[in-house]
Amino acid sequence: MRTIESLGDLRSRTVLVRCDLNVPLDGDTITDDGRIRASLTTIRELRDAGARLVLLSHLGRPKGAPEARYSLAPVAARMAELLEAPVAFTGTTIGDAAEAARARLRDGDVLLLENLRFHPGETSSDAPARAAFASELARGADAFVSDGFGVVHRRQASVYELAQALPSAAGRLVEAELGVLRRLTDDPARPYTVVLGGSKVSDKLGVISHLLERVDTLLIGGGMLFTFLAAQGHAVGGSLLEADQLETVRGYLAEAERRGVRIVLPSDVVVAEAFAADAAHEVVPADRIESSRFGAAGLGLDIGPESARAFARAIEEAATIFWNGPMGVFEMPAFAAGTRAVARALTETDGFSVVGGGDSAAAVRALGFTDDQFGHISTGGGASLEYLEGKALPGLEVLA
Ligand code: ADP
Ligand code: MG
Repeated sequence: MRTIESLGDLRSRTVLVRCDLNVPLDGDTITDDGRIRASLTTIRELRDAGARLVLLSHLGRPKGAPEARYSLAPVAARMAELLEAPVAFTGTTIGDAAEAARARLRDGDVLLLENLRFHPGETSSDAPARAAFASELARGADAFVSDGFGVVHRRQASVYELAQALPSAAGRLVEAELGVLRRLTDDPARPYTVVLGGSKVSDKLGVISHLLERVDTLLIGGGMLFTFLAAQGHAVGGSLLEADQLETVRGYLAEAERRGVRIVLPSDVVVAEAFAADAAHEVVPADRIESSRFGAAGLGLDIGPESARAFARAIEEAATIFWNGPMGVFEMPAFAAGTRAVARALTETDGFSVVGGGDSAAAVRALGFTDDQFGHISTGGGASLEYLEGKALPGLEVLA
């Protein structure tokens, strides 16, 4: 993979840098600036090299047209604080105003363009439309650095076509993330334990089948655990259930048994009367979810305390751990204990611990842990999972 060195001397060069600055916002307050911080290494290095930086990012999922709530303006302000340097912001992405702002840049200056997804070309399924948008972005620039790890699995204009339109290279964040993923796939230290949770089992099935060939232990929590329990024949009340995945999940359970992979499901579950922060709740055995006082209406919203202890033990015994997906609805304090126990175990293990997934990373920070307590917190959930699934990532292939 080409790295920044391959671009040669960048002094006085205009360098486009694709970052992933897709941070969670509450109004215009950034609730977790992890992705902005993660982008700083490359930005600082390019500034020190005397480049003129034009940063590109998306935020949220606007539908190809401007929407004020998805503006990158708050990100420009936060980035300036963290860099301790001005960050110019145009409010546009292409066109005269953007070009004028770009022309004003001096060596080491930083300009952030507006949300790429305000333009339909960015995520278009039509390759010529993406190429046209990429060539607009590339106009007047000398090089492209691809550092938005969270989007390298996407065939999008600023990830794929732009890398073809200019001399291009991977940034330091992409390099670092890839180094970690290689450590997870090429001969990981054993025992290798993977913890999967989150809300959608169907999103994560591909990775499960691939992981069964590689891991020693798979711990299943979060919303997906109920599809596993149902596959074993247990009633799950009103909990999340993907009925069309039951056969596939049964296949995984059988395959795990054949391969000697331990799939650990929770032995107890926190069941609530409703999906609400103040809902009444109680702990029941995982194979008797409907035995709670809420009967068949009860919703499983977290793994129970006995399961949390068992998961923590398995994590502490592992030499390599990858975690994706919260164990419960951690956004509500009553259902955050399982996620907290898993996060704490990851900070206490002597093994190499990696957290992947936007919500998982946000969860560990929201629960008061800091990045340096983990081996690595990935900025890209989907990208990490697709890499672990063994899929080719377009944004990396184009930099080969
Ligand atoms: P990540 O972004 O880390 O990959 P996901 O997006 O897959 O994680 O899932 C995160 C979401 O899963 C969280 O918003 C959390 O509230 C939800 N979740 C976890 N457990 C449950 C559950 N038992 N029922 C419903 N939602 C759940
Ligand atoms: Mg998510």
